[in-house]
Amino acid sequence: MSGLNWRDSVVINRLQIVHTCLTHYYLLSGEDQPECAHCKCPLTVKHLLLECAAFNNIRLNFTVSAMKELFDTVDMRHIINFIKDISIFIIVFNLLVSFQLQSFDITNFF
Ligand SMILES: [Zn+2]
Repeated sequence: MSGLNWRDSVVINRLQIVHTCLTHYYLLSGEDQPECAHCKCPLTVKHLLLECAAFNNIRLNFTVSAMKELFDTVDMRHIINFIKDISIFIIVFNLLVSFQLQSFDITNFF
């Protein structure tokens, strides 16, 4: 992927297949599916990227409603920047109730 380093490319690929450790770790751990503490709905990649109202203010370049449209029309660097922004947001506001994020690097979940 042009303009992205290897790690960012991996993140984009995982987001495109909507399978990240953050959203799917529960399948391996046997825990309940994590939910968005803000919206009280299942935590999914689509929810984080397109739907969660908690991130509306920082979802600057995303005026799309479908995942395919997002990856077809939005610059991948904008998506990466958004992910980095919400990762900080998630840690600061502790939105994820199922993880003790203090001991993790959030970027490892993507
Ligand atoms: Zn939400």
